[in-house]
Amino acid sequence: MRRTKIIATVGPSTDKPGMLEKLLLAGVDLFRVNYSHQNHEDHERRVEEIRQASASLNIEVGIICDLQGPKIRIEKFTGGKIILGEGDNFTINTKMKQDAGDQNQVGVTYKKLARDVKKGDSLLVDDGKLVLEVLGVTDHEVKCKVVTGGELSNSKGINLQGGGLSAAALTKKDQEDLKHGVKIGADYFAVSFARMAEDILEARRLLDIEGSSASIIAKFERAEALENAESIIEVSDAVMIARGDLGVEIGDAALPPVQKRLIKLARDMDRAVITATQMMESMIDHQIPLRAEVFDVANAVLDGTDAVMLSGETSIGMFPDKVVESMSRICEETEKQRVTMVSDHRLNQRFERIDEAIAMSTMYAANHIGARAIAALTETGSTCLWMSRISSGIPVFAFTRHISTLRKVKLFRGVYPLQFDVTHTNPLEVNREIVDDLLEQKVVKKGDYVLITKGDLQGSRGGTNNMKILQVGSSGEDFI
Ligand code: PGA
Ligand code: MN
Repeated sequence: MRRTKIIATVGPSTDKPGMLEKLLLAGVDLFRVNYSHQNHEDHERRVEEIRQASASLNIEVGIICDLQGPKIRIEKFTGGKIILGEGDNFTINTKMKQDAGDQNQVGVTYKKLARDVKKGDSLLVDDGKLVLEVLGVTDHEVKCKVVTGGELSNSKGINLQGGGLSAAALTKKDQEDLKHGVKIGADYFAVSFARMAEDILEARRLLDIEGSSASIIAKFERAEALENAESIIEVSDAVMIARGDLGVEIGDAALPPVQKRLIKLARDMDRAVITATQMMESMIDHQIPLRAEVFDVANAVLDGTDAVMLSGETSIGMFPDKVVESMSRICEETEKQRVTMVSDHRLNQRFERIDEAIAMSTMYAANHIGARAIAALTETGSTCLWMSRISSGIPVFAFTRHISTLRKVKLFRGVYPLQFDVTHTNPLEVNREIVDDLLEQKVVKKGDYVLITKGDLQGSRGGTNNMKILQVGSSGEDFI
């Protein structure tokens, strides 16, 4: 049973008939809808198709709507593209007509660019393939010298090395997209280019207004976000290490330690964490991964990530299902390493809440008694999130009556959702029903230890206040 979760981005390649089913069977836990591409109709259709495929296979799946954020792009060239040579002069002009770019200048989507940059700054274009050095700035022009040249085509992204662009994280388009995401039933929203906690709180406010209880993923892809990491994580439900844009801003060599630090920080703060971008990039057009990619996925698993994400590999790649199969295989093999199962997490900490203390004690007991499974009766999924912050080889089953919780826990490492309506179950029969479910899933057999957590007041939020250890097939199942 794989513990690390797999996120696959949908796109033209997943539109092929039967592909979503194949991906679910290959082990996709959550699908990501990327609002940087295509239009609302495409997203809506894809989400409908995902829900249909999931229902037909009876495999629960979460949906992440990834908002574009203030990704800064150059506008267009009259000829579609130009070639810049080293030493050429080139100007980014915020007042230019959209499609009038030429060999000397081009427009830009971010109209305040000239205010945010200064002489000596480096602008990285097209994921850093081209580098422009700022020679001088007027109120609407950024005059540059080409340091690294190459082909430059329409709408390529621009990043400022070291960060410092003041664009707010939620643009008008993002606000509209968020409403649309709520309408189509997103379980998670990813906020791109977040700089500070306020960006996440803004998204939370908009979700509240829409009456949505979806969770929020903070995408770390700006240099500033790293300085505010703790305060951003504090107000987020999950974190994404968006290695593409982040690597452009902070430099590729700075990424590995940042990945390790963010994964540890997120886990320490009881948040889920996703490792993203170029994990299996070569499989966009190859049937097997590079050895370096095998190691990258394995290292993210060893670092403790909840989920690994696929972008172009599944959305526009030639072999979406093969990529998921290989990724899954690498995760499973890595998870056999003992280091992924032992934990010294929070050994010296105080717990703030009763349900948290129960979750932690359960993991301690389960790891030490050699339990086969943990069953957590949960309303919101928080008990399972706490549990899954502890490294362990024991699966945690989230028994819940809420469809939103079934889908959200798909992100948490080692947590598996099972639908169960505790309010429609005789309290005297809950243990037996849980054990029967686990037997039916073939995850336990007679004689195994199972730990069950629940609250005296069944079906109430935050009410978990007891843990029971029982042996499958013993009389313990018949008691509350
Ligand atoms: P993106 O984010 O794919 O939306 O750009 C991920 C990244 O920047 O790594
Ligand atoms: Mn990005």
